Amino acid sequence: MAKLYFRYGAMNSGKSTAMLQAAYNYEERGHQVLLAKPQIDVKGDAAIVSRLGVSRPVDFVIAPDDDVYLKFAQETALAGGSVSCLLVDEAQFLSDAQVDDLFRIAVLDGIPVLAYGIRTDFQTVAFPGSRRLLEVAHSLEELKTICRCGRKAVFNARKIDGKFVFDGDQVSIEVGEVTYESLCGVDYLQESGGLLGSGRRMLGEPAYASAPDSDFT
Ligand SMILES: [Zn+2]
Repeated sequence: MAKLYFRYGAMNSGKSTAMLQAAYNYEERGHQVLLAKPQIDVKGDAAIVSRLGVSRPVDFVIAPDDDVYLKFAQETALAGGSVSCLLVDEAQFLSDAQVDDLFRIAVLDGIPVLAYGIRTDFQTVAFPGSRRLLEVAHSLEELKTICRCGRKAVFNARKIDGKFVFDGDQVSIEVGEVTYESLCGVDYLQESGGLLGSGRRMLGEPAYASAPDSDFT
């Protein structure tokens, strides 16, 4: 049986590079693959862009309401009917239903699906697509990167004009230069004043009744 794979990591953990390498490995052996990514990601203009300098256009873009199961069947027909693998970049931006479509492609069509994405947002809360992938993927694999301190980075902290911010929308619509830094748990808590999740799971009540600021100043 083919499987749905979720390869996740913090930002800058080499997900796009790993995905392009996987595509290359298939093609080197004479197999055809299809590359896709959600439309919400405008970086690179519908291409997979690796930080190492390699890039490649996607075969199809997934719009927010797309039926990915149907779209994959259409794209497979357009590609000549013989596709060995579907690779999806920025899978954190898929909807629950679209992740379920990826599962169907693997299980019902027998085509392996490799989904790559960021596990959590800048407030340490799972992106919708990543949460669903963690629930249903047959195989979970962490792609690792390191924090400035040398520990493994697990979170993505947001900076606006060089300063850490812990409030805002999941996909930034802020004014100013938005960047992200991959941090370990220790450094994330130091920068956030001890907060994880910024209280989003408990509306009207902060996640921590009293932030343990004395430990972090
Ligand atoms: Zn650190």
